[in-house]
Amino acid sequence: MKVELIAYTPDADKIVAAAAKLCYAKSDINSLMDKLTPDKVESFLNMLDGLGHESPVEHAVFTFGIEGVSRALLAQITRHRIASFSVQSQRYVDKSGFDYITPPEIAEIPEALEEFKAAMEEDSRHYARLKEILSRERCKRLIASGMDAAEARKAADKSANEDARFVLPNACDTRMIVTMNVRSLRNFFRLRCCSRAQWEIREVATEMLRLCRSVAPLLFSKAGPSCLNGKCSEGAFSCGRMAEVRKKFSEL
Ligand SMILES: Cc1cc2nc3c(=O)[nH]c(=O)nc-3n(C[C@H](O)[C@H](O)[C@H](O)COP(=O)(O)OP(=O)(O)OC[C@H]3O[C@@H](n4cnc5c(N)ncnc54)[C@H](O)[C@@H]3O)c2cc1C
Repeated sequence: MKVELIAYTPDADKIVAAAAKLCYAKSDINSLMDKLTPDKVESFLNMLDGLGHESPVEHAVFTFGIEGVSRALLAQITRHRIASFSVQSQRYVDKSGFDYITPPEIAEIPEALEEFKAAMEEDSRHYARLKEILSRERCKRLIASGMDAAEARKAADKSANEDARFVLPNACDTRMIVTMNVRSLRNFFRLRCCSRAQWEIREVATEMLRLCRSVAPLLFSKAGPSCLNGKCSEGAFSCGRMAEVRKKFSEL
């Protein structure tokens, strides 16, 4: 998988501190910004964390490019409604000979890997065959309705993806651009960096958090699974490895 931070709000710490300070200050925005020295930004952001006043962090947004992940991951990440997604379309993009994501546990067991690869090859063959059949039949219909043969072939080819994709598996690779604000990212990291999250989205979320911390350490210093800042919130489902998880995320 490849996760890149492709854009983010410049001076995010200061923007968030200014947005929060504005709520409690008499001064105009320019003088408020001028007074925000790096020390003041830091102390204001620390204070903000303790207040539960969360909306100021919505002013900073981060945009990621995510590639080489499965459609299974796509189904999970897009459940996060406070985010913007642009995803490679299986309708417009021909997925013949598609790449796929192999779960590590399957990769480790030769018998499972053999079965998995056979399933992928079979899916790929069914996809190609369906495209061929759909394209041929649609082309005939378009020509019969009066379309020029070359144009009909082109149109039929394109539209065949639309139904052939129904046989593509969850493992099929995809890519997306995702934008979230800091409030939504913190919620995302709390849920998806946790050991309870599925391995692939956990890997993506952990890398996204590492990238966020590299450019905005103050805003993300406490971001991560719930146990990073106190008790585990997972109750009976807790992994019971809080010390290990805390160490991992405090050193990320
Ligand atoms: C370990 C794990 C297992 C899961 N298993 C399943 C499963 O089996 N089946 C399944 O369907 N989903 C499952 N989910 C998905 C989960 O239920 C959420 O849909 C997903 O994590 C998105 O979280 P969110 O709603 O907090 O995020 P967002 O959609 O980004 O929302 C952020 C926050 O905004 C607020 N919000 C957003 N929309 C509303 C709304 N309509 N009403 C009120 N408040 C709102 C909430 O406070 C929410 O926390 C699982 C998630 C995890 C982490």
